[in-house]
Formats: sequence, structure tokens, C-alpha cells
Amino acid sequence: MKNVVILGSTGSIGTQSLEVISEKQGFSVLAISGNSNIELLEKQARKFRPRFVAVPSDAKASELEIKIKDTDTKVLSGKESLEYIASLPEADIVITGIVGIAGLLPTLAAVKAGKRIGLANKETLVTAGDIVMNTARKTGAEIIPVDSEHSAIFQCMAARVNNENYETELKRILLTASGGPFFGKKKNELKDMKASDALRHPNWSMGAKITVDSATLMNKGLEVLEAKSLFSVPLSKVDVLVHRQSIVHSMVEFCDNAVIAQLGVPDMKLPIQYALTYPERLSMSDNALDLTKTPLTFEYADTDTFKCLSLAYRAGETGGTLPTVLNGANEAAVALFLEDKIGFLDIGNMVEMAMDAHKVIANPEICDILSTDLWAREYVTTNLHRLN
Ligand code: NAD
Ligand code: MG
Repeated sequence: MKNVVILGSTGSIGTQSLEVISEKQGFSVLAISGNSNIELLEKQARKFRPRFVAVPSDAKASELEIKIKDTDTKVLSGKESLEYIASLPEADIVITGIVGIAGLLPTLAAVKAGKRIGLANKETLVTAGDIVMNTARKTGAEIIPVDSEHSAIFQCMAARVNNENYETELKRILLTASGGPFFGKKKNELKDMKASDALRHPNWSMGAKITVDSATLMNKGLEVLEAKSLFSVPLSKVDVLVHRQSIVHSMVEFCDNAVIAQLGVPDMKLPIQYALTYPERLSMSDNALDLTKTPLTFEYADTDTFKCLSLAYRAGETGGTLPTVLNGANEAAVALFLEDKIGFLDIGNMVEMAMDAHKVIANPEICDILSTDLWAREYVTTNLHRLN
């Protein structure tokens, strides 16, 4: 029996992870965490009977404690409780389904404890990729990507990552992008788009923040940076291709021009399950791919209209704390967009302004990353008047 900890169990990744676990044998839920959806945490605690539920807010934790006091589950509170459950000695696998940089310290705790991590929280590698990957090398933590593109690349690479000719063998990674709900639109059409428009993703059902990131192509930008850290490749070897059908989840091109791709229906259950069972595969009943149903098309992204993708490359090339500014300013701007306080194109404009204003720290420690994140968020809220 493998003990699984699910960080962010109430979210899109978290609930799907619990679904996968409930359909398979051999996994038990040791601990879960959520932020504010106490009703769902109660349901999950009753169904999966974890030993711990961690909730960062003391008030919300007390609310949950009263609701489940008849059970054996212990409620923990405070931000540190997430790090505590992520590093429980009995934990075999930690799924990181928290959204945003809030996932960084809990994920790092799991890495320090040498766990297998099913990594969904891409913001962790965007902001602290070097620290996380270097720590994993030291502790032996296994980081198995859950993000569908990175799971695809991981599957395409098979054993090549540890091969001594890896760097010369690998020509490039081809990261596919659905293009989101606004694919093909130009700036004059995008400027009046509202959150309700951006939240209508054509292929994937996900949390609000990542859905907006998919509409701006910031999600692909974050994924480019995630790929750079996960697979130790220079950015010059990571290319993006728009593939509207979201069937080819990504590809790897080798020096002999062989291109290996992983295909499947757009369903996060496969990458989640693969992270749990790797290197084994377990059968799945309901997501078989019928290749005769849809043609597969590929094209380049319009980075002039969707500037967030170019900003991510720029942040990654400069490195240091600039990717943290990209991420923090984006998190703050997306939150404002979801509240209808700024326009769709303002997200990229705000991120660019914050990046231009930032003095980069070259080799940041975690404390530099956290303070830069706060700086970037504050920059956004105090410079809204500069948007025109
Ligand atoms: P979501 O909004 O549906 O869920 C987020 C989870 O994080 C919730 O459980 C919430 O309670 C928790 N959370 C939010 N703020 C928190 C905080 N400050 N402290 C502690 N917990 C907090 O998001 P999601 O779509 O499941 O995405 C989660 C992560 O996975 C993101 O990093 C996203 O980019 C990545 N991801 C998601 C998908 C997907 O299909 N949803 C695919 C690939 C990658
Ligand atoms: Mg993805």
C-alpha cells in the first residue's frame, strides 16, 4: 500500500487525484490540504479517512475541526502544516495540486524529505527551479511531472535523461499548446474580453487561474520554464507549437530527427495516475483515443498578440529572480482580472512593467524568491494607474 499526500485536494488536480486513487487499488490517502472549501474537505475526510487535514487559516481549520470531530482525522492549521504533511515519514507520494507560489514551500518540504512528488504546481519550478532540482538531486526525491505536457515529455524521453549523451542526443522539446479560448484573435478583439470569456477553455476543465493563464499563453510560458528546470535543457531547446486538439501532449526531437510524441485524450487522470504508478502502467477504462475522430494540426504561436509567452522566455533567459517577478505579477494581475478590475491585455502589460522595474538578484535563495514575489504583487497593486 502506498501512502499518498494530496496538497490542494479541493482543486481540479486534487479532486481528480482522489478520483484516480478511489478507482485503483494499492493507494491510501494519508493526508490532504485545502484552503477554503471546508464542505468539500469534510466530504473528502469522511470518504478517504486521512490521518491529517491541513488548512492554512486558523479560523477555517477550527470550522473543519468542529465538523469532523466524530472522525479519527486530525485537523492541522497554519501554513507550516502544509510542509508538515508534505514531509510525513509515512508518506510515499506527494501530489502537489496547490495553485501559485503558495505551493513552493510545501513542495520544497517534500523534496527535502526525499519523497516521490507528483508535481502539478508548476509555479514551484518557475520561481525556484534550481533550488528544487538541486535539492532533489541531493535527497533522491523523484519529481514526476503531472502537468500533461511534461508528463508527455517525461514519457517520450524514457530513459534518455540519465544517458551520458543526453545533451547531444536531445535536439529540442516541442511543447504543445491548445491556444486557449482566444486563439486567432487580435489585440483589438482581446481588449474587451472578460473573465467569463477567458474561463471558457475549449479542451480542458481546470482551476480559474490556470484557465486564464491558458488564455494569455502565460501557462505555456510557465511551462517552458518548468521544462527547462525539469529536463535540464537550455531555453533554446524548448519550442512551442499550437495544437488545437490537445491530443499530442508534447514531443521530443532527437539529433537523428526522430520525433517521439505522447498522445491521448485531454484527461488529467492519465498523467496523475502515471505519476502515482511510474514506471508501471495501470489500465484505464474510460479514456481510449480514437485517432480517426479528429485531424491533428500544428502551427506557431502569435507571440506578438500573446506577449506573455515571449515575456516568459525573456524571464528564463535572464534567470535569477526575474521568473519570480513574471510569476508573482501574473498571479496578482490574474486575480484582478478575475475580479473584473483590469482588462485582459492588462495582464501581460502589468507583468512586463513589473519585469522592467525589477532589479534582478542573480542566484537567489528562497528568502529572495519569497520577497521578490511580494515585491511583484505589490508592484501590480500600486501601479494600476499606469495602465492605459
Ligand atoms: P485549483 O484552483 O482548482 O485548486 C487549487 C488548490 O490549491 C485548491 O485545493 C486550493 O484550496 C489550494 N490553494 C489555493 N490557494 C492556496 C493557498 N494560498 N494555500 C494553500 N492552498 C491553496 O487549481 P488547479 O487547476 O487544480 O491547479 C493546481 C496546480 O496544478 C496549478 O499550479 C496549475 O498550474 C497546475 N496544473 C493544473 C492542471 C489542471 O488540469 N487543473 C493541469 C496542469 C497543471
Ligand atoms: Mg499543461
